[in-house]
Amino acid sequence: MAPSEYWNAKNETRPREELEALQLIKLRRLCEWAYATTPFHQRRFDEAGFKPEQLKTLDDLRRIPFMTREEWMESLLEKPIFGEMLATDPVNAVRYHLTSGTTGRAPIRVLDGMKDWEWIAEMWCYGLWGFGVRPEDVVYLAFGYGSFIGFWGAHYACEKIGALVIPGGAQATEARIKQIIEMGVTTVASTPTYALTMWQKAREMGIDLASESKVNKLILSGEPAGSIPAAKRQLEEAWGAKAGDTAGMTEVGTIMIFECSHQPGGTHIIEDHYIEETINPETEAPIGYGELAERVVTSFGRGFVPVIRYRTKDMVLKVPASVCPCGRSWDIYDGGIRGRWDDMKLIRGTNVYPRAVESIIREYNCIDEFQIYIWRKDDLVDEITIKLEVKPDQESEWPDLQHKLPRDLANAHEGLRFNIERMEFGALPRFELKAKRLIDARPVAHYS
Ligand SMILES: [Zn+2]
Repeated sequence: MAPSEYWNAKNETRPREELEALQLIKLRRLCEWAYATTPFHQRRFDEAGFKPEQLKTLDDLRRIPFMTREEWMESLLEKPIFGEMLATDPVNAVRYHLTSGTTGRAPIRVLDGMKDWEWIAEMWCYGLWGFGVRPEDVVYLAFGYGSFIGFWGAHYACEKIGALVIPGGAQATEARIKQIIEMGVTTVASTPTYALTMWQKAREMGIDLASESKVNKLILSGEPAGSIPAAKRQLEEAWGAKAGDTAGMTEVGTIMIFECSHQPGGTHIIEDHYIEETINPETEAPIGYGELAERVVTSFGRGFVPVIRYRTKDMVLKVPASVCPCGRSWDIYDGGIRGRWDDMKLIRGTNVYPRAVESIIREYNCIDEFQIYIWRKDDLVDEITIKLEVKPDQESEWPDLQHKLPRDLANAHEGLRFNIERMEFGALPRFELKAKRLIDARPVAHYS
C-alpha cells in the first residue's frame, strides 16, 4: 500500500463542521487554563469583562481581547525576563528561545517544556510529511542552531518521521554545499534567501546543484519569498527541486501553515491546532475569503505561554480549502504570508510594499541580487531606487531590463517613478538568515 499523503488523515480531512466544534472545545479549555494560570491573561480578561464560560459558539471568540506584541514586550520589561506570560513554573522548562529581532527591536523571550517540544515537532510533521518528506529522505538543515528557533522544530520532526537528519550548523556555505553532495541529501531546509545564496556559492565553486546533487525538495521558512511565484520558480530551477513554503513564529514556537505537495499556490492552515482569524488591521472587523487581511493567531498547543488572539501584523488572503485538490479540509492562505502590514512605505502618496516590489523583480531571472533603496532628494522629494546586480552570464539582458523593469514597477504602483541603478557584481550584501533588502535612508524627524 502506498503511504498516505497525510501525516494524520483523520485530523487533516475532518469535515469543517466537526473541525469547528473541536476548535470551540479546545478554545474554552485554553481560555480556562490561561485564566487560571497566567497573570497576564487574568488581568486582560478581567479588564475586558471576558469569562471563558461565555464561549458558547465560535463567534464568541470575539469577546476575547486581542493580544499584541507591544503588551507582551511591556510585560517582559516590567518583570524581566519572561514577564507575566508563563503558565507554569520555569523549573519545568527544558528550552529557551528568542525571536530573531531582525527589525532592531528587543527580542521576545520564551521557555518551553517537554510537552511543548513534542507538539512543536508534531506541527512540523504535518508540514514536512505533507510536502513529501519520508523516512528514506536525507534532510539537511542549513541554519545556525542558535537561540533563534529557526528550524529546531523541523529537526525533531524529521527524526520523528524517521528521516536521516544532517544538522548543518556553524559552517561556511562552501562546507555545507560539499556535505549536501557528499551525503546524498534529498531535502534542504533553509530560508529562501539562503537557498539562493547556497546556489550562488555552488555556481562559484563550479557545481551545478540541479544536476550534481540529489536534492528534490526545498523546505522554505522565515521569509515571505517562499510563496512569491517568481522567486519560487527561480529556486526550483536552480536546485532542480520542488520548493515548499512554511511559516511559523517564535511566539508560537513552531509552524502554523504549510504548503502541501500539490503546491496550490498557498499554504494550508493547521486548523486542528490553531484558530487563524483574518481581520481588517484598522477597524479590527472580521474579513472573509478573498480579501487582504491581518492574521490573528490562537494556538492550542503551547504549554508554557498561552497565545490567544495574537495580532501578527502579517498580511494574508484566505481562500477555502477546496482550491487545493489534496483533500485537506484546512483553509489556505493564497500566496502564503504576503508581507507585513507595518512594512508599508509611503512614497509620494503611493503605498509600496517590499514584497510586491520583490515579486516583480523576481520575474527577471537575470537579476542576481537587489536592494530597495528609499531616500530623499534635496530634503524634499522621496525617491525609490532599485539597486541591482545582473548575473555575469546574462549581461546582454541589461539594456532591455533597464527599460522594462521601471515600467513594470510603475504599472503596479499607480505610475510611481522607480529609479534603477546597476551595481557591480558582488557589490550588494548577501544574507544567511533573513534578508535585509530594504533600506529606508530618509531622515527621521525627532521630537523631544
Ligand atoms: Zn493541499
